[in-house]
Amino acid sequence: MSGVVYLVGAGPGAPDLLTLRAARLLAQADVVFHDALLHPETLALAEQAVKVAVGKRSGKLSAAQRFITKQLVDAARKHKTIVRLKGGDPMLFGRAQEEIDALNAAGVKVEIVPGISAAFAASAELQTSLTRRALSRSVLFATPREAEGSRKNDWARAAAAADTVALYMAAGEAFVVRDALLAQGVPASRPAVIVENAASAQVRVMVASVGTLPGVADSVGDGPALVLVGEVYADLAAAQNAAREFFFLQRTELA
Ligand code: SAH
Repeated sequence: MSGVVYLVGAGPGAPDLLTLRAARLLAQADVVFHDALLHPETLALAEQAVKVAVGKRSGKLSAAQRFITKQLVDAARKHKTIVRLKGGDPMLFGRAQEEIDALNAAGVKVEIVPGISAAFAASAELQTSLTRRALSRSVLFATPREAEGSRKNDWARAAAAADTVALYMAAGEAFVVRDALLAQGVPASRPAVIVENAASAQVRVMVASVGTLPGVADSVGDGPALVLVGEVYADLAAAQNAAREFFFLQRTELA
């Protein structure tokens, strides 16, 4: 038996933000290897599948990644349809390339199914476009999280040059983010927003600036959180319009 491994984007959280293709593959799957934090209703779509939790929320070790990859290859030898379900879009900060390369090397067929990435879900919550005429025409996806062998803060130069920045895995490193951006000449007053649990009922929006990021990030809870930076967030009223039950606005010194 030589099955196909589908790297499938589960979207940012809400089960109805899944693509139809993802839902169809989940229904057909024999095995689903999934990250932590996936919505139970999303997993429930894989009615007949064996479900294996493999994700770690952070600090992914390469040994653990190698084990996941081996499990995928083994599963493809035994089953027809294997779904590797990843939060958001699989091709962004999801270690997809390691899995694609290993599966290709093992002669296993791979297909990718895109998903809605956190930056888009967060932008929807904020009702604030990542781009705006005459204000923002470049968007950077970056992470301050350092992998072995990466240069320290090499993301910050690009972040300083971009109009809008979406920082993944950044809320826990708010001091690093602030210092790295300030060192690149970004003004402390540049608006920033943290969106925790985008696309879920537990969404929380915390408005800050580059200078106040560490203090504001302190109030982030256990959920996944995205840090957004850029002049498009100067319009705090727009964020307030998106208010939900859990919304709170942290007054900041937007100089
Ligand atoms: N592939 C995923 C990103 C994986 S990295 C994607 O495309 O979205 C994990 C990071 O994504 C988290 O640390 C957080 O920064 C962000 N994230 C994921 N889900 C989120 C959510 N619902 N709300 C806010 N940020 C989220």
